[in-house]
Parts: sequence; structure tokens; C-alpha cells
Amino acid sequence: MYLNKSNFFWKNEPIFCFTIDLDWASESAIKYTFNYFEKFNIPITFFVTHYSKFLFDKINYNEIDAGIHPNFLPNSSHGNNYKEVINYCTKLLPKAKSFRCHRYFDVNDINEKLYDLGFLYDSNLCTFLQRVDPFVHRSGLIRFPIYFEDGAYLYHNKNLKFNEISEELFYSKGLIIINIHPMHMALNSPDFLYARKIKDNLTRQKWNSLNDKDLKNIKNYGLGIKDFIVNLLKFINKNNLKTYTLKNIYEMIKRD
Ligand SMILES: [Zn+2]
Repeated sequence: MYLNKSNFFWKNEPIFCFTIDLDWASESAIKYTFNYFEKFNIPITFFVTHYSKFLFDKINYNEIDAGIHPNFLPNSSHGNNYKEVINYCTKLLPKAKSFRCHRYFDVNDINEKLYDLGFLYDSNLCTFLQRVDPFVHRSGLIRFPIYFEDGAYLYHNKNLKFNEISEELFYSKGLIIINIHPMHMALNSPDFLYARKIKDNLTRQKWNSLNDKDLKNIKNYGLGIKDFIVNLLKFINKNNLKTYTLKNIYEMIKRD
């Protein structure tokens, strides 16, 4: 069992893959995020935590790629133990072949269980701006490490002025897997604690039902991560860089 590196098609150019962890975002936040990607004609892979009518209509018509985003932490709304959480998520998205756990929860028991259930690949590892090629995990799953995550970028207080770091971060060859969260987009978070503080002051139900008006009232109007991501989307279009879904990439590199 191995990955044939000669199938890695990103050796000579940057290849982008945008993924989104749903994290119980409201319909308004999901639509807001989705619309930017549609505007720039850039495909997305969603890791879903809950039912969203807007999104599931598209998933059911195979218009977008999706995997599950199980939450194995205490007080999870998905269940009280591994089995319950996995049951919840596989019922939510029965055709899923990929996953990323909430907060990157990672333990052999879960990986093996999901592999046995027919899951083929995951993206359950987040680097901090390091290019790491996909690899075959101990479980048999193919694992796709994330290069850029909105939360990690904010957590480390990195530069939000896109033009100053675009070449350094995004213009060299290799696979660039991006992970963003709809609520960071909708709030245009300027730092890591901005969204955290808002979330901690709301009930789960309120968080999941924030509408356009609510979001306008609580979003950041200064420079934030949404501005950064939108500049990245413009940069990709302007330079004709290639973007794929995670499913596309898996199918192109999978074992012979
Ligand atoms: Zn999450």
C-alpha cells in the first residue's frame, strides 16, 4: 500500500484545494461564503457538521464535494461516544468517503472504524504553512495535510495585508490545501479571539441561526480574514492558477 509520487501533478505549479469546515455556521454565513467562491468560479469541498438546506440541495445533486466533520469532544451535539458520533455523521451524509474531525481529533480507533466503513481519505491534519504531500496513514486512509487554515493564521497574528505576502505564501509549486470557516468569513475576523468571544456569548441555537442582519451588526469592518481570502481568490483568478476539489485530487493520485 503506497502512493505513487509520479502521480503527484503539483510538482511544477501551485495547485489549490479549498475546503470549508462548516462548524454549525448559520444558513446566512454559509450562503455568504459560498457566494464568493461561486463568483470566482472556484470549487469547494465542504466538511459538514449539520443539515443545511442550502448546502444539502447542492450536495444531493452532486454540485459540490462534501465529507463529514464529526465532533468527538465532550458535550458534542453529535453524540456521547465514538459510535454515536460516527452514526450521526454517516446518517447525515451517507455517501461520504472523506472526513476531517472537529479540532482535528485523532485516534486510531476512529480512523480504523471509518476506514472499515468505507472512508477512503481524510484531511485531518493541519500544518502551519508547511507543504506536506498526502501520505498513506497507518489506518490505510490517504491523508491530505492542510497548508493554510484561517484560524491558525489569525492565531499566529500573521499579516492580513495580502499583497505583502502573496508571492511568499501562494506562488510556489506544490499542493496548497486551504481550510476556512464560514463564520470567520461572515464576521471578517481580525484576530483569533473575535469569533471565539461572539460564540461564547451565544447559545448553540442562536449561533446556528444568525441571519444577515445579525451578522452585519457583529462583523468586523476593518481589515480581516475575509478580505485576505477574497484577495487570494482574486490572485488565483488573475494568475490562472488551478483549483480542484479534494475528491478530484484523490481520484487523480490514488493508488493503482
Ligand atoms: Zn471544526
